[in-house]
Amino acid sequence: MDEETIPPDHPRYWSLVIRERLVRGFRNGIVVPQGLIAHGRGEAFDYILGEETHPPAREATKAAAALLLVSQNPVISVNGNSAALAASELVKLSQISNAKLEVNLFHRSREREERILSRLREEGADNILGVGEDADAIIPDISSMRRKVSSRGIYRADTVLVAIEDGDRTESLVKMGKKVIAIDINPFSRTARYATVTIVDNIIRAIPNLVKECEELRHLSLEEIRCIAERFDNEANLCNMVAIILRRLEKIAQQGF
Ligand code: ATP
Repeated sequence: MDEETIPPDHPRYWSLVIRERLVRGFRNGIVVPQGLIAHGRGEAFDYILGEETHPPAREATKAAAALLLVSQNPVISVNGNSAALAASELVKLSQISNAKLEVNLFHRSREREERILSRLREEGADNILGVGEDADAIIPDISSMRRKVSSRGIYRADTVLVAIEDGDRTESLVKMGKKVIAIDINPFSRTARYATVTIVDNIIRAIPNLVKECEELRHLSLEEIRCIAERFDNEANLCNMVAIILRRLEKIAQQGF
């Protein structure tokens, strides 16, 4: 089945679209098999959350947009899954927030970097960092290939947006003094807990929502935007997301399906 042939009235429409995009990404050499497995963990959380954006995620999205807009050197880190699922919206986000795009992969190969680069270029991105020789700097304390970053991008960034990541790099980036925005549907993950602002939502909804928030916030003064970013409490927000999961499960346990 192709994305275009999935009937829009199918009750699991978006879930099927996401799967098709990942399978296509896998066939095109953008997504690795491990990425498909990582998606499985995320999909399970999305299922429990009813595949919708909840109020704490909206609040986190607003804080993340504010943080991007007040940052001097924001960078959006792109991996295989995020390129396969949200390339067009990632490019829009980079344009509206003035954030650079940088390819950063756990399973790094020159061929995969180039394929992701082409995918982002197809959507109108230029000046994409982190490919080939451009990944010329090292994040300390990480043993995986994710440590290789661009000295023009993630290495000197004050804010880095990561999505669908493991926790090690988030922890290291925070240790380097950077602010990290994470998109992770699992509120229990290490990434979610280490990040400065975690959006507990599916990337497929989170990036378009971020674009909208950036558009709206741009009408406020810099001081007002800074205030929104600063008053955000990540731990409280994660707890609110866990409370939503609990309430949803409790309702079913008490009242049935
Ligand atoms: P950590 O090291 O932070 O505890 P992990 O070991 O679970 O995380 P990975 O296996 O790399 O890290 O998984 C990536 C994360 O991305 C998981 O928390 C998963 O739930 C989440 N995830 C997967 N797909 C999506 C998606 N489409 N949108 C948002 N989050 C996703």
